[in-house]
Amino acid sequence: MERVDTIVIGAGVVGLAIARELALSGREVVVLEANESFGMETSARNSEVIHAGIYYPKGGLMARLCVEGRALLYDYAAAHGIAHRRCGKLIVAADAAEVATLDSIRARAAANGVDDLRAISRDEALAMEPALACAGALVSPSTGVIDSHGYMLALKGEAEAAGAMFAFHAPVTRIAAGARGFVVETGGAEAMTLACDRLINAAGHGAPALAQGMAGYDARLAPRAFFARGNYFTLTGRSPFTRLIYPVPQPGGLGVHLTLDLGGQAKFGPDVEWIERLDYAVDPARGDTFYAAIRRYWPALPDGALAPGYAGVRPKIAPPEAGTQDFLIQGPRAHGLTGLAHLFGIESPGLTASLAIARHVRALLEA
Ligand SMILES: Cc1cc2nc3c(=O)[nH]c(=O)nc-3n(C[C@H](O)[C@H](O)[C@H](O)COP(=O)(O)OP(=O)(O)OC[C@H]3O[C@@H](n4cnc5c(N)ncnc54)[C@H](O)[C@@H]3O)c2cc1C
Repeated sequence: MERVDTIVIGAGVVGLAIARELALSGREVVVLEANESFGMETSARNSEVIHAGIYYPKGGLMARLCVEGRALLYDYAAAHGIAHRRCGKLIVAADAAEVATLDSIRARAAANGVDDLRAISRDEALAMEPALACAGALVSPSTGVIDSHGYMLALKGEAEAAGAMFAFHAPVTRIAAGARGFVVETGGAEAMTLACDRLINAAGHGAPALAQGMAGYDARLAPRAFFARGNYFTLTGRSPFTRLIYPVPQPGGLGVHLTLDLGGQAKFGPDVEWIERLDYAVDPARGDTFYAAIRRYWPALPDGALAPGYAGVRPKIAPPEAGTQDFLIQGPRAHGLTGLAHLFGIESPGLTASLAIARHVRALLEA
């Protein structure tokens, strides 16, 4: 059986960032990915927003790693020539009651170290975005958008330059803790069994199942996987906005918001649709509910202007009634197995936080 130092399962943005971090620190890294290429699941199906770190509960991993990761990501994008734009975002209140909510959003953001939010009046908001209807807003100047594929390509390139190897079409079927390190089995056309000293389970939606079936690991520590689809509808025609526009958040998601890609094309979503299994199909009928939600902040949205776009699925680790769950990253302290890290529930802001998650995992394994 071939033995390597470190195996990373999953070549989404998080697995790639971890592979890069560990390869640059001198480790021998092999990345095993089920698909034919990197970044074909959640990492290719998101809003590509660099989040400021506003909404997450204070002291949690999401809050900390988003703020840390955002700074790292802007620096990384600038240093590696990855297309991105610090376009800013407006969080808009539809009425006086929501204006009051803006204060609590600003206080939560400040507690997370996001101290650049600014409250503006209706008139100031309309001067910035004339198509908007609102009673007041918060401006987040440090929110932006990034070419996530270009970012992942850069991570992979750097990891490879530091010696990391990638195996695609390599679905991991079983992992086990052995007397010395770990054993990893893959299926696919070229099934193999590898041994390693360090194992990082960054398999996104696949992470809970791998952990649940892992010999030598207490399966009670592994969460159950839940799936919350986020559907997008694209705007046919030009965007009347130059910044990202978010309503005041709703339970389970951030509300039907408008994001822009780097070409200025607008899309709305993601909404929140709990589903039984991984399925990326967008139901065009859901567009009907989008119109009313969008017209709360953009009354002039023309009838028939929305087209079904794409969907991503949030890798949830608790049912809807449990509310927002923090990232669950288990290192040796959590499960007692030296060299092992499981990453569960890495939903938004996982793209923004990816470089900070990678540092965090490295520190967990070195502790
Ligand atoms: C709708 C939506 C919008 C979002 N918007 C944003 C945003 O704007 N900004 C932001 O910061 N974050 C956003 N996120 C979150 C972000 O997209 C994710 O946190 C991030 O992409 C997770 O990356 P990952 O590498 O953990 O998972 P994935 O990208 O899912 O990668 C996991 C990889 O593991 C592979 N895999 C699975 N099982 C196995 C196995 N058994 N063997 C081998 N390989 C396996 C998969 O094929 C996949 O390539 C959004 C998420 C969603 C769902």
